[in-house]
Amino acid sequence: MAEENSRIKELKEKLVYEPKHASYKMDAETVEAADSFCEGYMSFLDEAKTEREAVTKAIELARSNGFREYVWGKYYGPGEKIYYNNRGKAVVLAVVGEMGLSDGARIVAAHIDSPRLDLKPNPLYEKDEIACFKTHYYGGIKKYQWTAIPLALHGVVVRADGETVRVNVGEDEGDPKFVITDLLPHLAGEQMAKTLASGVAGEDLNVLVGSRPFEQTEDAESVKLNILHILYEKYGMTEADFLSAELEIVPAFKAADIGFDRSMIGAYGHDDRVCSYPALMGVLDVENPAHTTVCVLTDKEEIGSEGNTGLNSEYMTYFIKALAKSEGLDGEEVLSKSECLSADVNAAYDPDYASQYERRNASFINKGVVITKYTGSRGKGASNDASAEFMGKVRRMLDNAGICWQIGELGRVDAGGGGTVAKYVASHNIDVVDMGVPVLSMHAPYEVVSKLDVYATYQACVEFYRS
Ligand code: MN
Ligand code: MN
Repeated sequence: MAEENSRIKELKEKLVYEPKHASYKMDAETVEAADSFCEGYMSFLDEAKTEREAVTKAIELARSNGFREYVWGKYYGPGEKIYYNNRGKAVVLAVVGEMGLSDGARIVAAHIDSPRLDLKPNPLYEKDEIACFKTHYYGGIKKYQWTAIPLALHGVVVRADGETVRVNVGEDEGDPKFVITDLLPHLAGEQMAKTLASGVAGEDLNVLVGSRPFEQTEDAESVKLNILHILYEKYGMTEADFLSAELEIVPAFKAADIGFDRSMIGAYGHDDRVCSYPALMGVLDVENPAHTTVCVLTDKEEIGSEGNTGLNSEYMTYFIKALAKSEGLDGEEVLSKSECLSADVNAAYDPDYASQYERRNASFINKGVVITKYTGSRGKGASNDASAEFMGKVRRMLDNAGICWQIGELGRVDAGGGGTVAKYVASHNIDVVDMGVPVLSMHAPYEVVSKLDVYATYQACVEFYRS
C-alpha cells in the first residue's frame, strides 16, 4: 500500500502541473535576499513616483555603476555600458555583449508611468473662498478611490523665461499635502444611490490647495491670489506658466511592509515600478553578457504607449539601429533576431473577488514571476500572443535556473482586459512575452505585491540578460 502510494505520488509529480507557494521552492538564503532586495525597491518607490523621477533615479544608479551617456553614432565595444535619456521621461540602458548585436539584443521593457491625476493646463480656481486645482485623470482609475486620501504634487513647470522648475510638494517631512474632498455619509443619500463608476465624476476630482485670502484683503478671488503669490515666491511662476507645465497629483503614501509577517509591500505605483526596478537592477548587475542587453524604462504605457516617450514611437528601435549601424550591421536584421521580455504586472487572484478570475489560469501572489502569454480583450483583441516556441524558450530558461514562476491570464474570459507594451515591441518583428509581478488592488492608489514575487522577477531579468 505504502509502495503504491509513493508510486502515485511520483507519477503525479511527473505528470501534473501544480504551481506552489514560492517559499516551498526558495531556500532561507534566497528569502533573505528577497527581503533585502525589496528594501532597495521600497526606497526607489518613494524616490521615483513619476516617470521623470524614475528616469533621474535610474540614471543616477546607472552612472554610479559605470554607465555613460550614449553619443549618437559612436561605436561601443563589448562590455561598455551606456544609457540614452529620451527627454527625461524614458531611458534605455545597454551593456554591449561579447557578440555585439550580431545575434540580436536581449531586451527587458518596463514602464515608469502610473495612473494618476494630471493638472489641467489652466488648473487654479477659487469658489466660495476655497482654492482648488482642476485635474484630468491619467490612465485607468476608479475615481472614488482618489477622494479623502493624502496627495502630493510632482512635476515640472517651464516658465515664460524658458527656465524649467521642478516641483515636489507633499513628500518630505513637514511638507503640506493636498486632498480631494468627499461628501459626508449623512448627506450622501443621492451619491450613494449612484453606481461606483458615477458616484465621483471626473470633474469632481478637484484638489484642495488653499483657503486663506492674500493679506486679509476682501477682494474677489483673494484666496486664489494668495496661492499664486506663494507659487511666485517659491517657483518664480505666474498663472500663465501652468500652460507649459506637467504637474501630476499622486498619493502621498510611502511604501510600507504589509502584514504581521512583512511578506508584502503596499505602495503607490507598483504598476509598473515593480518590474522597472528588477529590470534596472538586472542590467546594472550584468557583466560581460553574450548578447547586448537592453533595459527600456518607458513612459505613457498607461494611456496606450502614445507620444514620443511611449513605446509606440521608434525611440528604442532608433537607438538599437544606431548601435547596429556602428557595428556595421543591418538594424532591421538585428531587431528581427532580438528577444524581449515585456516586464509588466498581472492581476493577482483575489479570493474576495474570485468570480472575476478563472483559478486555473490566474496568477497568485507568492507563486513567483508570472508569464502572461497574451493580454487583450474580447477574444485576445489588441494582444501580442507569444508563440509556443518563445514560451518554450522562456520556460526552459526559468526552469533551468530554478526560478519560481507561474502562468497567468488577466481575469476570466470577457471580464474585461488590458494591454501592455508587448504588441508595440512585437511590431518590430521581435519575439516578446509579458512577464512580471502579480498585484493585488492593481491601479488603486495603494497597491500590494509579494516580496518573493518581486525577487523572482529580478532573477528572471538577470537570467534573460545573460541568455
Ligand atoms: Mn503596467
Ligand atoms: Mn497599468
